Amino acid sequence: MSTIKANIVNFKNQLPKHIKLVAVSKTHPIEMIKEAYSTGQKHFGENRVQELIAKQEELKDLDIKWHLIGHLQRNKVKYIASFVDLIHSVDSLKLLKEINKQAINNSRTINCLLQFHIASEDTKFGLNIDEATELLESEEFKKLTNVKIVGVMGMASFTENETQVRSEFLTLHEIFNQLKNSFFNTSKDFEEISMGMSNDWEIAINSGSTMIRVGSVIFGNRNCSL
Ligand SMILES: *Cc1c(COP(=O)(O)O)cnc(C)c1O
Repeated sequence: MSTIKANIVNFKNQLPKHIKLVAVSKTHPIEMIKEAYSTGQKHFGENRVQELIAKQEELKDLDIKWHLIGHLQRNKVKYIASFVDLIHSVDSLKLLKEINKQAINNSRTINCLLQFHIASEDTKFGLNIDEATELLESEEFKKLTNVKIVGVMGMASFTENETQVRSEFLTLHEIFNQLKNSFFNTSKDFEEISMGMSNDWEIAINSGSTMIRVGSVIFGNRNCSL
């Protein structure tokens, strides 16, 4: 068995059944994605639009569910709107309006997660709870017909300090509960907490994650720091 196949099979064996795995294939060639796919893995994540559309085009005969996990610029939404399965990185009403517009152009509904800033580093994108509340309460948001908010996403600080990472993940879980109670308590679609990567997925799962985004553990290290 190839290393990637073995990696992904071994990794999935460690996961509780209810956890969804997004295999993060950014920077890795399509041959590697095909190997992972051959084990039954269908959900793949990319963080750059350019790379995502190139890979989607080459692999369009496979039943892959593509996740956009990185920062998304409004002017690039149109390139992914026809096929993207889940956008993890919605951090403004303006972006959401553009996603809605492009979803309408493609006669579909696009599932989205609201990205929250939970890390101590200020380089990471995302909303805070006040901004999210304002977005969800706005009349403009209520008019959007072709986007569906299905949960939240966040990245913990890049640190060895597990206590800090756990506390950031618990913050995201608490934000999820608050939004669920205030805005989505009649919607069963609002159910995902996307948190946890190769180095912190166990803490994330213990803190309530439903969906982890894992690259290096499956595909090996990336050459560049993306
Ligand atoms: C790269 C990336 C991941 C996966 O990182 P690994 O450490 O390789 O598991 C997860 N989420 C986002 C947003 C990423 O950019």
